[in-house]
Amino acid sequence: MSNVNRRSFFKISAGTLIGMTLGGVSLRAFAAEKVKLDDPMAAAMRYTHKSEVEGQNCGNCNLIQGEDGQEWRPCAIFPGKLVANEGWCAAWVKKV
Ligand code: SF4
Repeated sequence: MSNVNRRSFFKISAGTLIGMTLGGVSLRAFAAEKVKLDDPMAAAMRYTHKSEVEGQNCGNCNLIQGEDGQEWRPCAIFPGKLVANEGWCAAWVKKV
């Protein structure tokens, strides 16, 4: 590899790395957005951050995603948003 080629290679690698890092940050920021109570979908599904239905919450709903033990987690009903583990909505389905 000539010096010029090596320099070009490092330039491309550094650019790619920065691009990937920034991409990751924006993806994480997007995924970390909590569902707002005035979100039209949340209102339609009567979503609340704190369940008032005994024995039902997002943490024991079959549509919850992500890892157990997280306070805020992705949900199949709200793509790209996070719901409260203690939350609830009308789409609640018993975890199987
Ligand atoms: S479907 Fe509703 S109850 Fe189930 S995890 Fe999502 S927001 Fe919570």
